[in-house]
Amino acid sequence: MSLLEITQLTKSFEKGKEELNVLKDITLHVKQGEFITVIGPSGCGKSTLLKAVAGLDTEYSGEIKLDGNMVTGAGINQGFIFQEPRLFPWLTVEKNIAGNLSLKNTEVKESVKKLMELVRLEGFEKAYPKELSGGMAQRVSIARALLRKPKVLLLDEPFGALDAFTRSHMQEALLEIWKEEKTSMIFVTHDIDEAIYLGSKVVIMSARPGTVQKVISIDLPFPRRKSSRAFQEFRQ
Ligand code: ADP
Ligand code: MG
Repeated sequence: MSLLEITQLTKSFEKGKEELNVLKDITLHVKQGEFITVIGPSGCGKSTLLKAVAGLDTEYSGEIKLDGNMVTGAGINQGFIFQEPRLFPWLTVEKNIAGNLSLKNTEVKESVKKLMELVRLEGFEKAYPKELSGGMAQRVSIARALLRKPKVLLLDEPFGALDAFTRSHMQEALLEIWKEEKTSMIFVTHDIDEAIYLGSKVVIMSARPGTVQKVISIDLPFPRRKSSRAFQEFRQ
């Protein structure tokens, strides 16, 4: 059994009197520990797909099962990382990570400490979000999501707002987290290089306006190579 089973997912939006068919009959299985990257042009439905898996949107037809259970709403099984980190500015880093869990609980405190090491934020426990760079803030949101031990981590263009240098660092950090925690990932990006470099499998969504979404998925070769040449070679 796959960890995540998306079956015939179909979603359209009403656009005036017209129906905008965004996702049509998408069937996709994700195994435990896979790092799926999802790529496609702007507006092709990547965020729509991710929100459905997250349970943030339940108005679709088809079925989404996570670990054998139907996804009926957002929950701790699906960690979600947005492009812009959504931190509480009035809370310290460690409190942002802990959220509604109490740091007075030694187990919580220990886990937060371990995760802060994992995302390389040791020493920033008492810092406030405004003192952090964009990359650091995004690492806080990743730590916060991981604390809840999600079955799958959903990332919607998480490094899209970062400069190239920081993005590269964040890619390495995320790969380390993946190796360490073995969390299954679905990572949406419109950057081909990023998709090829990070993924163990890439899902390519292609859509022309007014046409039905086509989706193919391809297993990616190892070792990872950080160059658009990897994609060229891969296609040959
Ligand atoms: P992507 O993330 O790939 O850029 P989205 O999933 O955000 O694309 O959007 C897919 C299509 O659905 C776009 O044409 C967008 O305009 C449309 N869309 C997304 N959300 C809504 C909404 N809430 N209401 C109407 N149309 C929407
Ligand atoms: Mg999007």
